[in-house]
Amino acid sequence: MKICVITLGCPKNVVDSEYLTARLLNDKVEFIDRADQADVVIINTCAFILPAREEAIETILEAVNLKSQGKIKRIYVTGCLPQLYLDELQTELPEVDGFFAQLDFNQIGRKLTRELNLESSKNSQKRFLQTPGHYAYLKISEGCDNRCFYCTIPRIKGNYQSWARTHLIDEAKQLVDGGVRELILVAQDTTYYGWEKGNRHALINLINSLAKVEQLKWIRILYAHPAHVEDKLIQLYNEQEKLCRYIDLPIQHISNKILKSMGRQIAENDIRKVIAKLRNQVPNIAIRTTLMVGYPGEDEEDFRLLKNFVSQVQFERLGVFKFIPESGTPAARLPDQIDEQTKEDRLQEIMELQYDIAGQKNQKMLGQTVAVIIDEPEEKNASFAGRTQWDSPLIDNLVHLSGEVEAGKFYNVTINRTEEYDLWGKVNSLIY
Ligand code: SF4
Repeated sequence: MKICVITLGCPKNVVDSEYLTARLLNDKVEFIDRADQADVVIINTCAFILPAREEAIETILEAVNLKSQGKIKRIYVTGCLPQLYLDELQTELPEVDGFFAQLDFNQIGRKLTRELNLESSKNSQKRFLQTPGHYAYLKISEGCDNRCFYCTIPRIKGNYQSWARTHLIDEAKQLVDGGVRELILVAQDTTYYGWEKGNRHALINLINSLAKVEQLKWIRILYAHPAHVEDKLIQLYNEQEKLCRYIDLPIQHISNKILKSMGRQIAENDIRKVIAKLRNQVPNIAIRTTLMVGYPGEDEEDFRLLKNFVSQVQFERLGVFKFIPESGTPAARLPDQIDEQTKEDRLQEIMELQYDIAGQKNQKMLGQTVAVIIDEPEEKNASFAGRTQWDSPLIDNLVHLSGEVEAGKFYNVTINRTEEYDLWGKVNSLIY
């Protein structure tokens, strides 16, 4: 049976799809990438903003079209869309053979095994990776307790639930035995791990336990919340060699008026304090952030504060998004909604600012020798693409290099050319 699993959305959805596919894995199943050549298509959806829901519906309708042409037999839909709109979907899309709103993807896998008359998988692997075999995401919790006023995720995923450290360590050991050398910690708020159980050092303990897994080389933190970055976590960067000098720290905004209106539970001063501590205490840390422009009530002064903040802090990595009023969120009911053109102009202004900053930062890398993990060969120039410890997969800079290298291995590379979002280098030696 040919099964095509389409994963939309964030790395947390990737992990969910990997649990699901591991449960379906058996010698009567072949996983393929082409939906039009599959017997069964499973679509793991994202729904946290309108464009994501539109993409999910489009993908489902493409599968429905293939089914109407007799090219595929079954369609199943999982993830955030059925978690939000199960009844509507079942009514509107009867061509779909099943919608699964469960959060537990192992359970969905077992249900689908029965539904597809497959033998239950004898596969002992917890996950069937969708990422290249040398890096994997480790999802450490489900849900979120932060309740930012523009966000639908708590309505989709519920309250914060930290996953047991023992379970995560077992999973990490299995992944590393399978060839993973870089683990990327993901959650809605990674830094809140254990807090709902009153344990504010749970993330530090988890990282130290993960670091004991011998063949694991890099541990990376994504989705940290500035209100939950503890001093001890900052210290850990200097104590735990395997922890990449990198933190993804979505800030969203810096104007106190907007931060309050967003319900971000943190004010400008405290955000600046966290960044100053990271900069002062962790030499050459790369801070990635995410900003939102066009939030209701964001006037010229608020936006000027945000631009100044970007110029002052000089983030190593930055993404910026336009506010989208999500129905059912308090922010969607706010007065002073901003027009689309203004949102677009502000987004472009921030990206232009960051483009120059990124270029200057990369120029300082010229002549430096850094550790690079090789991700994959590139189509052109017989070269390979890799990343430094300051770059997360798919969202940050690439290092392009040629020579006898192997995916998943780490090499010492001397940087000899840079652009805003790309580096080029010469391989010196294999590290491991
Ligand atoms: S931290 Fe805020 S934006 Fe992020 S998932 Fe939680 S509620 Fe949503």
